Amino acid sequence: MTGPVLLAHDISELDAVRAKLGADGRTVALVPTMGALHEGHRALIRRARELAGAAVVSIFVNPRQFGPGEDFERYPRTLETDLEICREEGVAAAFVPSVDVMYPDEQVVTVSSGPMGAVFEGAHRPGHFDGVLTVVLKLLNLVRPDVALFGQKDGQQLAMIRRMARDLNVPVRIEGVPTVREPGGLALSSRNRYLSAEERETALALSRALRAGESAAAEGPAAVLAAGRAVLDEAARARPPLAVDYLGLVDPDSFAEVTPEHRGRALLVVAARVGATRLIDNVPLTLER
Ligand code: AMP
Repeated sequence: MTGPVLLAHDISELDAVRAKLGADGRTVALVPTMGALHEGHRALIRRARELAGAAVVSIFVNPRQFGPGEDFERYPRTLETDLEICREEGVAAAFVPSVDVMYPDEQVVTVSSGPMGAVFEGAHRPGHFDGVLTVVLKLLNLVRPDVALFGQKDGQQLAMIRRMARDLNVPVRIEGVPTVREPGGLALSSRNRYLSAEERETALALSRALRAGESAAAEGPAAVLAAGRAVLDEAARARPPLAVDYLGLVDPDSFAEVTPEHRGRALLVVAARVGATRLIDNVPLTLER
């Protein structure tokens, strides 16, 4: 069922949209985004439409998940193109609130991401996951979807949202969607548009390191990390250079680092900066017995 995208700017408009979707007897899938939509977001929307009668996309650059000195001000805002993409993808409704709509008062009560939100991304971006979980819980409460979709690209975010839904008994199904990449391997990201041609070349080392780690999976955790590290070390000598924040091999659910003896599922995660742009990526792998 496609038609015009219903637009909701504030909570009363959203309530009207939600009531209409409910009255039509449609189940609802929510795809939360910060806009600047690309093929990765399109994959989430397509999966949303497979899973529910109506896909709702939220577009909100959430100030609470950006730290001081991060790119909140310059984050790309491309609402007209985003709505065009929503129309092309058969999105039923878009929720496009302002900061004042989402945070009309001081946000006194917030979600704490706990120790799991303080490692890897959380260690480099203090407060980031508290901001993410708080806005996601607000969006879930506002839209009341049957299912909400998130990209595997932000692996720790997906794991934290699953954990929040479990720990706080949030009545929603959380669905992860595999990472969409450019042909060269670079994971699609709204931040890729900050990269110059030379920086983009250097940035390819992230996905190259993950593939190198994946190829070493049969030899165990130490070999996976060594193979990934070798690629990143080389990229650190490139022009422009790659500055690595972390490379880790973790349990995909808890984000605890795996032991050297670990076998079974794991997630190889990486974060690095190229010039002023910070990029993250990960790949799931299985360490064979
Ligand atoms: P963002 O707009 O960057 O906050 O992302 C919105 C959603 O899209 C998040 O759940 C992301 O994990 C997901 N996403 C972003 N990039 C990709 C990608 N390359 N492949 C799959 N999902 C993605």
